[in-house]
Amino acid sequence: MGRLSLHFTLAVLATALAVLLAAPALAHGSGHSEPSFAPRCHAASDTATTFETMAVRPSAGGPWICSDSDWVAHEPVSWLRFEREAWDGEERPRYFFSRIARHKSITFAALDADGTLRTLSWNEADGKPFVAGPVFQLVLPEIKAETRALIVRIEQPHSIPLLTEARLTFYPEDADWSQLEMLILAFVLGMLVLPLFFDISFFIVLRERFVLLHGAMVLAMMAYVFTAGGLISVISGIPLSAIAIAAPLMWSIGVGISALFLASFLEEGAQSKIMRRSTIAAGIWSFVGPGFFALQLAATQPFDDRLYFICFLPVIVIITAAVAEAVGRGSRSARFVAVAWTPIILASIERLLRGLGAYSGPSTLDQGMFIATGLEVIVISLAIADRFLAIRRERDEAITEARMLEQLSSRDALTGLLNRRGLEARFDQLFRSGFDTFALIDLDRFKEVNDQHGHQIGDAALVASAQALRGNHDPDLVAARLGGEEFVVLVRGPRSLQRVEALRRAISTRIAADVEGLCAPVTASSGAIEVPRSTNAMMGFDEFYARADALMYDAKASGRNRMVSEKLTMFPNPAANTKGCDCGPQAPPVRPGRPAKDHAA
Ligand code: GH3
Ligand code: MG
Ligand code: MG
Repeated sequence: MGRLSLHFTLAVLATALAVLLAAPALAHGSGHSEPSFAPRCHAASDTATTFETMAVRPSAGGPWICSDSDWVAHEPVSWLRFEREAWDGEERPRYFFSRIARHKSITFAALDADGTLRTLSWNEADGKPFVAGPVFQLVLPEIKAETRALIVRIEQPHSIPLLTEARLTFYPEDADWSQLEMLILAFVLGMLVLPLFFDISFFIVLRERFVLLHGAMVLAMMAYVFTAGGLISVISGIPLSAIAIAAPLMWSIGVGISALFLASFLEEGAQSKIMRRSTIAAGIWSFVGPGFFALQLAATQPFDDRLYFICFLPVIVIITAAVAEAVGRGSRSARFVAVAWTPIILASIERLLRGLGAYSGPSTLDQGMFIATGLEVIVISLAIADRFLAIRRERDEAITEARMLEQLSSRDALTGLLNRRGLEARFDQLFRSGFDTFALIDLDRFKEVNDQHGHQIGDAALVASAQALRGNHDPDLVAARLGGEEFVVLVRGPRSLQRVEALRRAISTRIAADVEGLCAPVTASSGAIEVPRSTNAMMGFDEFYARADALMYDAKASGRNRMVSEKLTMFPNPAANTKGCDCGPQAPPVRPGRPAKDHAA
């Protein structure tokens, strides 16, 4: 929760920063209050067509289209015509504005009443990007009182909005985009920062590739919004051509990464093999296909504009089909993706139709795309959070199951005590933590019990023995069933051998209490060995077992129902000897032997 609120604070800060960045644009404050003039007519031609030809008025048979249709950007030259009636009675326009797009040159001709054409020509590099949306500005030749019209010749235009969104204004501040639009843009940018922080913290915990891909996708979308929305112009000196290339390129990269993200994000089984391959192919195609046409090279001018958009058609189709298939296959993640991507796909289709010149709309329509982008990234972040929780849950379950299996494999099924494997695995650790007494306990003449009363009674006796040995969850006692009717008890603490003896006796009592129908008491014999840690010895399970088994043999041989134990007091320890340590009266050092063997019955 703390991390979440940190993210929220960071996102608010980022939004504030983005709004600050946009402030120069907002500072103009004029918005739409000052008039700007749209072209009355437009046309397209080869390079040979002259200004003289275009000077002919539309009403006098000039080669003009005077409606908002049939715009094309694939001919070598596009023409725009602004008529004096537009600004008559007001100030005379001094600036030309349009949407940032690649072109070779823009030449203006002011057509005066006497037929004089005064021209002024600018190259692409002269276009000055302006912080008021994705627009650039150029200075017009002087518009005089007697100027009838302004004819604009745009050589090698790469996009239709460069034509449809061209405007004349009095002042450079009279750009087309309003405060609100720039604010929305800044806000979307700020919104995009939040998922980025999410991705970073998710990736720290969950090293899934789709988290990285999502982070890359968000960065590409941020770069797209930053360039396509024109906010990048706050950094002065960025050439128009760089912005004109960066925006569509960032979009194709963003779409490409989105497709790769989809393929890696959907759960296993949510995609058919062929769909998964198609999704990845669509992602790579976005980089190379639309990515190439985003460069808008001079050689591709006649078609790059349309091909850029057309290249996205198969991508939209594949992504839509992939999401639909995954939803159909019951994918939870795909449902999030469907919600996230529907607005963006709709906005893409709108952009596509507008980009192809199916109709011309105001550049403000692009805001829809930016908002859809912001929404998409937020919803996908939620999807990742959801997935994150699911994967965590799966992991926790897997760990629990592994622990359970480990438990099962180290436990004896009949009595629930540790089995030999479980005991051996823990033995060294137990010995180090003070369990220095090892007792082997074996039921006496148990074969007879089975033979007389059957296996079921035998089993009940084994369970009762285990109950007796368990010692009421004594933390200083560990009991295990090695196999058959043979048990091991490890004890630590004072009087350990006496406690073993008490346990051995408890077996008979417990069996008598729990198992009905036995004609004779069942007894047990024990071989026990105590190796106090002070002897500095480190014996393994096998050594303890071998010694205890030998003592057990003695117990059986000397009549059963008893314990034979020994306490090892000293082990050879050359290091200790050379240091001349005082080993007490029992020295000299001996091999593990039987210095004190007790019989208890
Ligand atoms: P001793 O006093 O010398 O230990 O004699 P014993 O009969 O107990 O020894 P022996 O090793 O000959 O026989 C052990 C018997 O334990 C053989 C088998 O019938 C019985 N037994 C081993 N595992 C189980 C089990 O899981 N359930 C039951 N009911 N009996 C078992
Ligand atoms: Mg036995
Ligand atoms: Mg036995």
